[in-house]
Amino acid sequence: MNRITKASDGRLIVPDQPTIPYITGDGVGKEITPSMMEIVDTAIRRAYGTKRQIKWKEVLAGENAFKQTGSWLPAETLEKFEYYTVGIKGPLTTPIGEGIRSLNVALRQTLDLYVCLRPIRWYQGIITPILAPEKVNMTVFRENTEDIYAGIEWEEGTPEAQKFCKFLQDEMGVSNIRFPETSSFGVKPVSREGTERLVRAACQYAIENRLPSVTLVHKGNIMKYTEGGFRRWGCELAQREFGDAIASKKLIIKDCIADAFLQNTLLCPEEYSVIATLNLNGDYISDQLAAMVGGIGIAPGANINYNSGHAIFEATHGTAPSLAGKNVANPCSIILSAVMMLEYIEWQEAADLITRALERCFEDSRATFDLARFMPSGVSRSTTEFTHDVIERINN
Ligand code: NAD
Repeated sequence: MNRITKASDGRLIVPDQPTIPYITGDGVGKEITPSMMEIVDTAIRRAYGTKRQIKWKEVLAGENAFKQTGSWLPAETLEKFEYYTVGIKGPLTTPIGEGIRSLNVALRQTLDLYVCLRPIRWYQGIITPILAPEKVNMTVFRENTEDIYAGIEWEEGTPEAQKFCKFLQDEMGVSNIRFPETSSFGVKPVSREGTERLVRAACQYAIENRLPSVTLVHKGNIMKYTEGGFRRWGCELAQREFGDAIASKKLIIKDCIADAFLQNTLLCPEEYSVIATLNLNGDYISDQLAAMVGGIGIAPGANINYNSGHAIFEATHGTAPSLAGKNVANPCSIILSAVMMLEYIEWQEAADLITRALERCFEDSRATFDLARFMPSGVSRSTTEFTHDVIERINN
């Protein structure tokens, strides 16, 4: 059978020739996704000969899906990701004015992919806006299913907003809505369960990867029960389930207010390792940290449910419409996401070959224009030229 599954002891069972569903993606997706697949196939061949191979299976989403099926996210696509457990995707256009808010959010919610995982490290040769990017080495665990991303909100002036306002004022005794007639309202659910599974995953990751600390980032000083709850429930969980590691100093649990954290990451990034945070904070934090090491063109990501094993690895940037079709887009985000995928299925040798090949490209000042333009002797390579640069370095 060519399907990745999860055993009862929690380990993934990965056949030598697993089927991996992929979404090509819109815009630059059509250029970066084939680049990633070529590089991954080369690395697997180099690491394992003919013993191992990925059987890629295209599934539809986004503009492609809409043109072919009339649906932006066909049910079959979700079924395939569910069935095959592990998949990867390029960027998708967010349909404007359609019933679906965001295809990415729909994918995450349907499979309950509760961790958005974003590792952030610097590669020698990449020019960044900070003086010492080598000090940045963090892994962000962003909660993916709760917070204001639950999409519970009502627009100013609608009967729903008025009803909600009246409920707050008449039944909940709320008297401090500054402009009740012209307010929109949003609800921010944050739960103990949601917090615990996220913080558990972050602590396990830190211990498995011998990383020194987990920092809970929150705004509990202002939002006492939601963000403050996240801090309290998270610290309690860590003490309860990882008390031995904490007592033996293998793991340090810290917490930091989100605004101070953003400042601290610029002033003393070396003090942080694994970060556990809520959905909206995680959105801001991931992009700032990515910018500190070279920008979203090179930032990988994954959405994971560590209980079911389901995982979708993804380019973190959008469809970059102004670059699409020009063979100039940087494929590194989806390539590094594929590296994360290979690590997730424990094909570490292939993952390492790709990482090393990318490092050597940057050391040789070879990159796509978005990175090469800042390198003192940068050579701007097209997407296909850069793909060949990486493949050459995997093979030699
Ligand atoms: P974007 O990420 O597409 O572009 C932001 C900037 O980064 C642009 O200057 C772009 O040229 C540059 N950029 C992005 N990817 C690059 C790459 N691979 N190489 C070099 N430069 C790159 O964000 P946007 O313009 O706000 O969004 C465009 C579309 O993408 C929208 O429909 C949006 O909803 C969607 N989007 C999708 C995802 C996703 O699927 N994960 C994420 C963000 C935005």
